[in-house]
Amino acid sequence: MLDPIPTSPTRENRKPPGTVGRIILIDDSPSARTLIGGRLREHGWEVLEAPDATTGAELAMASPPDAVVTDLWMPGISGLQLCRLLRSDPVTANVPVVLLTASEDRRTRFWARCAGAAAYVTKTEIDRLVTLVAELEHAQPETVSLSNVAAPAPSRSIGTIPERLSQLLDAALFESTMAGEVRALAHYSDVESMFTELTRVTSDVVSYRWMALVPTGSGRLMLHAAKSARASSEREAREALDIQREVAEERRRAVDPKLFVVEDARPLGGEGGAPALVAPIRFGNEVLGMLAIAPTRRGASLDDRRMLEILSAELGGALRMVGLVAEARRIAATDPLTGLMNRRAFVEIIARDRSRAEKNEHPWSVLLLDVDHFKRVNDTYGHDAGDAVLQGVAAVVARIARKSDHVARWGGEEFVVALVQTADAGARIAAERVRRAIAEARFALPNGELISATASVGLASATALDWQLDDLVQRADKAMYNAKHRGRNRVETG
Ligand code: GH3
Ligand code: MG
Ligand code: MG
Repeated sequence: MLDPIPTSPTRENRKPPGTVGRIILIDDSPSARTLIGGRLREHGWEVLEAPDATTGAELAMASPPDAVVTDLWMPGISGLQLCRLLRSDPVTANVPVVLLTASEDRRTRFWARCAGAAAYVTKTEIDRLVTLVAELEHAQPETVSLSNVAAPAPSRSIGTIPERLSQLLDAALFESTMAGEVRALAHYSDVESMFTELTRVTSDVVSYRWMALVPTGSGRLMLHAAKSARASSEREAREALDIQREVAEERRRAVDPKLFVVEDARPLGGEGGAPALVAPIRFGNEVLGMLAIAPTRRGASLDDRRMLEILSAELGGALRMVGLVAEARRIAATDPLTGLMNRRAFVEIIARDRSRAEKNEHPWSVLLLDVDHFKRVNDTYGHDAGDAVLQGVAAVVARIARKSDHVARWGGEEFVVALVQTADAGARIAAERVRRAIAEARFALPNGELISATASVGLASATALDWQLDDLVQRADKAMYNAKHRGRNRVETG
């Protein structure tokens, strides 16, 4: 027999006079209910008994008690499932649930924690249970974190208890699948491709006008928007993510944040939907960036918020991984002394560019330059001074080269420049400009002294389709040695 169900929603009104509070006790064993219920009543609790989880859940939802004490394993709906169900409903989300079981079991303890149970007690510890529930009454249950609860609460009046449990299960499955998709983005080796794939995954399941990602410190704004609403989406995204402030900070360093846009031909949604939802992307204590989504609907729904939570929670690991891979690649491609591309990276980039040039039959030129009498710098001023001169020469070459040229440290005191779409005559002018700039520069040594240096430059050009980088460099190398023999600080063509 069940006690009458009080209907008043507030705690004060719920407590019948003379009791310390109300507990719903669920156990399929009548003798367990009698034993445990008896002990709780002895301590002043009003106890409502239920023989199964469905009955217990209905009681709890009709009028939330101070605590639910439930057997863990019962026929039909288990205590764990019940716990998840109560957590998912706004009405019962804060009711502490104590799980009872016959014996201690590590795995069950784990699941109990995942389900959001307030405590886990074996049936041999009734005394502990009595003290525990007394403390629970005043304790605010832990806020339930993402991993604890399966789903955005299905509206409470919809469906029977088993139906709602099944909805919870579906939602949990959907969310873990979605989380898996986002985690898989870690395989990308650059953040642009990662973002592009993220837009594909997300736009399949969320209806939004635009989505934006700003990785911390990258000076980048990545945006997915409908082609027709690109400008307004960008403006809105900048505002939502407070990019204006960042731009101001970046401007001090004279850098504009780079915009990366994934434009969508299909309209993603009209203007005037809900304002953007913004969430930080964390990895441990670090904030790796901000993610913003502007939902299409007028008011952002629980689903939209939930999706943003899942995306931002899962994106941290992926973003960190992609960042590490990109950084590792950058280090592998960079000469540590001068910051220029190293020889290996240069060869790779030329091979890539060449395959494009072949189709267009672009002319190519290569400059190889070697610092004159560099050994003397080392011998006179020391190796550190030699390093400083190499850094200075590298900076001059990089400054004189055009944006489309590729500049690299070839090795030792030799540098290489690939001039894309530049034929013989143009390359001679470029080579002469580089030579003169080096000769006119003054290089500061670690001791503060300024010295000058010169370089001999060898030049080779090709327009034929069948040239090899090796041949071109060899010709430039020969020309460079001619320049050395003819007095140094000059350009020769091979
Ligand atoms: P030349 O005009 O004929 O080119 O004479 P050179 O002295 O420049 O040519 P050489 O090849 O005899 O000497 C190059 C020197 O560059 C020898 C090497 O120790 C030095 N060198 C190579 N790499 C580095 C570096 O990273 N730092 C420093 N400080 N010296 C380097
Ligand atoms: Mg040399
Ligand atoms: Mg030299």
